[in-house]
Amino acid sequence: MLECIVTKFGGSSLASDEQFRKVRSILELEPTRRYLIPSAPGKRFSGDEKVTDLLYLCHRKASEGQPFAEDFAKIRERYMSIANGLHLKADIAGKLDEVEQGIASGKGADWCASRGEYLCGLLMADYLGWRFLDPADGIVFRADGMLDDAQTQEKLSMLLADGESTVVPGFYGALENGEVHTFSRGGSDITGALVARAVNADVYENWTDVSGFLMADPRIVESPAEISSITYQELRELSHMGASVLHEDAMFPVHRAGIPTNIRNTNKPYHPGTMISRNAPHEASVPTITGIAGHRGYSVISVEKNMMNSEVGFGRKVLAVLEEEGVCFEHMPTGIDSMCVVVNSEMLAPHRDQIIARIEKLVGNSGSVSISDNLSIIATVGRGMVHNCGTAARLFSAMSRARINVRMIDQGSSELSIIVGVNDSDFEATINAIYHEFVG
Ligand code: ASP
Repeated sequence: MLECIVTKFGGSSLASDEQFRKVRSILELEPTRRYLIPSAPGKRFSGDEKVTDLLYLCHRKASEGQPFAEDFAKIRERYMSIANGLHLKADIAGKLDEVEQGIASGKGADWCASRGEYLCGLLMADYLGWRFLDPADGIVFRADGMLDDAQTQEKLSMLLADGESTVVPGFYGALENGEVHTFSRGGSDITGALVARAVNADVYENWTDVSGFLMADPRIVESPAEISSITYQELRELSHMGASVLHEDAMFPVHRAGIPTNIRNTNKPYHPGTMISRNAPHEASVPTITGIAGHRGYSVISVEKNMMNSEVGFGRKVLAVLEEEGVCFEHMPTGIDSMCVVVNSEMLAPHRDQIIARIEKLVGNSGSVSISDNLSIIATVGRGMVHNCGTAARLFSAMSRARINVRMIDQGSSELSIIVGVNDSDFEATINAIYHEFVG
């Protein structure tokens, strides 16, 4: 029997009074669901507006001295219709007035945006009859805007120590001087993870509008299979390459604390979703690959230099050029007297000429530097690949049958992923070829 579950509900799960009702029945199904982290109400239908976007818009208009009453009226209407639809008693109209006045009085962007979660949390606490905890009292940011992890853990665990069912709005906390500060967009996922760690939850449930992760992007592969279990490490690899359901930073607190995250669908509450855990055992039933993800738009900086292999420190000098220009690299396959550095083309663009000139200077007359663009990188990820002979052979045979030229190969020593670089024009065909080879 699970003892304590922390639940986070995304914006689409809280977009209307009907969605609020679904949330309550999900909580009623499992009484150990004792903590709830709401996002701000999201889109009810495609083309609808997210409350957070409207709040940023009101703030921008107010700071430019433009009227924003019409935009604020849309926000007011969203909350009032939820409150009226659920017959709530809380004085939400008064709170909305305070927010409107705050925006007009020149409050900062973070304060304005955070009111989406704040108001949603007030409504939810009223609806459920649960305690409301303002995260400005428990989530601490340092003056440089980074989370103060240790203080947050200490404060949150103290504030939640009594085990009482509590609503903690997502997305924001406060600087040490009390000023409200937000995470980056989608940051309620991080709040949920911090609360889960603070109460030492058995599981952190992240409720959204999809039933977990898919093995590949459905815009590329037709009806890809669902991923029922994945490790944090695998997910890190996949999300870095573009698979997005969860905020990247939401994984670290729960991963380190050994708390699994379960991605669930508010509209299909009985679907088990995807379970993300630290050490999913290497059972026989684990499929060879867990998922495939990729990105277009990389460039390869190729550097050749006679006797590079025996020159101590050359690689460091090349990477120092990138570091000094503020460009991070993704991969670095090397040959005997050559090295390639793969970087994001957009990030490279403003520094391109400078980087070439500086590396050319390092190489001198004994080599060359060139950049080629339009590279896609595709990661095939899976703990099932470890010690499993023939996975790479299958992957490359599938690509060769599809007549795809491999421009780059990289496999980390963890054997958790095989990374291939192909022409941008082969991006979708590569993902399909790999998917159908392993999944059918
Ligand atoms: N409401 C915020 C956003 O739209 C935070 C969140 O939903 O997690 O980004």
